[in-house]
Amino acid sequence: MKIRVGHLYPDYLNIYADRGNIAVLAERARLRGHELDVRSIGVGDRVPAGEIDLFYVGGGQDREQALVAHDLTGKTGPLLDAAEEGAAFLAVCGGYQLLGRFYRDVSGAELPGIGLLPLHTIAGQRRMIGDVLLDCTWAGRTMAGFENHAGRTILDEGAEPLGRVVAGFGNDGVSGVEGCRRQRVYGTYLHGPLLPRNPWFADHLLGEALAHAGGPTELATLPDELEHEAHAVSAARARSRGGRF
Ligand code: GLN
Repeated sequence: MKIRVGHLYPDYLNIYADRGNIAVLAERARLRGHELDVRSIGVGDRVPAGEIDLFYVGGGQDREQALVAHDLTGKTGPLLDAAEEGAAFLAVCGGYQLLGRFYRDVSGAELPGIGLLPLHTIAGQRRMIGDVLLDCTWAGRTMAGFENHAGRTILDEGAEPLGRVVAGFGNDGVSGVEGCRRQRVYGTYLHGPLLPRNPWFADHLLGEALAHAGGPTELATLPDELEHEAHAVSAARARSRGGRF
């Protein structure tokens, strides 16, 4: 199958090698005989409605977010429609914040979001930096990564987090949860990049994208020795020092 990926603002929102997540999805798809067709959707570009199975957006400093936020709100309609129609989304850190209602940055400027995820974010003075380990009970799995954000994300009442924080700060350093998920839309603060050390989640996203593409969602199991080792190292680092200013 051809899996159509829409990479939002690859030139502006791409820190901590977030672009590496696309490389992981492409390789894991190729190993199962599928092909990733990645289209860049930047400032001024149209969102090809109904033609994208998986949208991806990476992280960025406040400055980069400010450069794309207004353009992104101009894409609200087609992006909300795409999510309603079952397209999958992975949004990391700065991209995650802009899928909510707004991000008030360190300077106090309020950047509008598209309101796809039930949350808002307000920056604090101290950055939350370090390794993170999550318990994703919905998948019976753990997720490991690295966070670096000033934003404190507040989920709406009843909103589903991506995971419970085992070690690290997570959304706001106090709620004990990280990220948000709704339908096939996943937002997280976890960089690294995220997917090389969490192969189960990469496959979960591929399965969601294949479901949207109308293809077989079953994926052959891969050995993933290195990936599991990377997860274990990241998890151990999080347990030893995550979540401390
Ligand atoms: N600029 C945002 C913040 O500081 C997001 C940072 C990021 O993407 N790492 O919270």
